[in-house]
Amino acid sequence: MLSFNLFKFAKKHYQGDDLVLIDKAIKLATEAHKGQKRKSGQPFINHPLNVAKIVIEWGMDIDSVLAAILHDTVEDTELTLEQIEAEINQDVARLVDGLTKVGQVRSNMKDLSTYLPATKDNLSKLLIATSQDIRVIIIKLADRLHNLRELKYLSKEKQLKIARESLEVFAPIADRIGMGRVRMEIEEISFSYLEPERFNKLQKLMKKKLGKSTRKLGRVRVEVEKKLTQAVIDFEINGRVKSIYSLHRKMLKKGDNIDNIYDLMALRVIVNNNEDCYRVLGILHSMYKPMVARIKDYIAVPKANGYQSIHTTVITPNKQIAEFQVRTQKMHRYAEEGLAASFHYHDQKSTKNYKGGFISQLPTNLQWVNQLQNIAKKLADGQQIDREQMAVDLFKYQIFVYSPKGDIYNLPEGSLPLDFAYLIHSKVGKHAAGFLVNNKIHPFDKPLENGDLVEVITKRFSKPKPDWLKLVTTSHAKHKLKAQLRIKDKK
Ligand code: MN
Repeated sequence: MLSFNLFKFAKKHYQGDDLVLIDKAIKLATEAHKGQKRKSGQPFINHPLNVAKIVIEWGMDIDSVLAAILHDTVEDTELTLEQIEAEINQDVARLVDGLTKVGQVRSNMKDLSTYLPATKDNLSKLLIATSQDIRVIIIKLADRLHNLRELKYLSKEKQLKIARESLEVFAPIADRIGMGRVRMEIEEISFSYLEPERFNKLQKLMKKKLGKSTRKLGRVRVEVEKKLTQAVIDFEINGRVKSIYSLHRKMLKKGDNIDNIYDLMALRVIVNNNEDCYRVLGILHSMYKPMVARIKDYIAVPKANGYQSIHTTVITPNKQIAEFQVRTQKMHRYAEEGLAASFHYHDQKSTKNYKGGFISQLPTNLQWVNQLQNIAKKLADGQQIDREQMAVDLFKYQIFVYSPKGDIYNLPEGSLPLDFAYLIHSKVGKHAAGFLVNNKIHPFDKPLENGDLVEVITKRFSKPKPDWLKLVTTSHAKHKLKAQLRIKDKK
């Protein structure tokens, strides 16, 4: 007996041929897993169907849904990749292959890992690097999430092992690719198994505190709604409650006293465009006194994983402290869904890049995903890579700079203007004659800083020179420049 009907659920999101394939995949997987049981006593097939349901909820493309349904077949049943390719298609077979291998990834990671400092977070990067299709990682997260939701059926020992691995590896992966909602659920469940007493204690404490602050914040909310309506701003406002795990982490930093935590509940204002975000901020600061050190503009300077929002904490006349988060709908969707949003079925593209899991329009802050995948691929092909440069590019702190058009680029800290020029386009680098940074002339050998507005002055007859090799720091720029110099030499 199945706990729910996946096909019925899928019908709300997919149509036509897609549904035919979903039906086929369900039958194939059900047949393959026949007789197998989960630790919960339910038929095993419930697990892959639930994973597929999560993948559908994330709005993923049809191939990801089909791969989720079949994700455990090749590893745990008689079904082969060839059969999946024959019955469904090659792309889905490739994804299932990736999902089967990603669990056993550690052996082929060895090459890559010798290049990297060994921390838990790097393990998450390695997993991403070694799966050639980033959708594999997203489906793997859905798989892990469902296993966590059913953790209560496992032995104590297994519970702890899976919870620890989830907190140390899978939560950072979700964070790295911007999937905030998933990261939070993974952390919450894992923490509740790893430190159950602490979890329960904080949950109770939170409940007690929240009752009071919800009432007080309710008043603030009404005042804000009134002002924003008067200003004719189209907005939504709602309260977001801090997760127990992030409360735990914050309390460790704040003397373990919940009274020092100001953002147990924050008010989230969602508007239509960037301009309105700043208008809302202005209105909030005209109503209440801001705590200046707590204003954070992640719209102008996004977090490394692409998160954008303005955060501000204010004090109301009756001494109530309230945190606000202001963002656009688009930023909100990204904060919750992250990279998964790039694979939405309704804006699915059938380009080669897309099919291969390399999204052509990867947000600039996530270029490291492609970078890592390319490096992993080179290693797999037995090619040499520049060890020193790789470590520099991937593990240095990143800075964000802007083009005059307002596009955001990220670069490793210490990057020089020519690095930026080559990042825009190798032709821009080639013909660079000078730089304006924040409208002032900027020498070739002075590093860029976070938030700089950089304009490259190009001249058609300007040519790259050998001593420019000392004026670039990123492997990308070095590579392009060397190629250009080589061509010049030959001439
Ligand atoms: Mn599974």
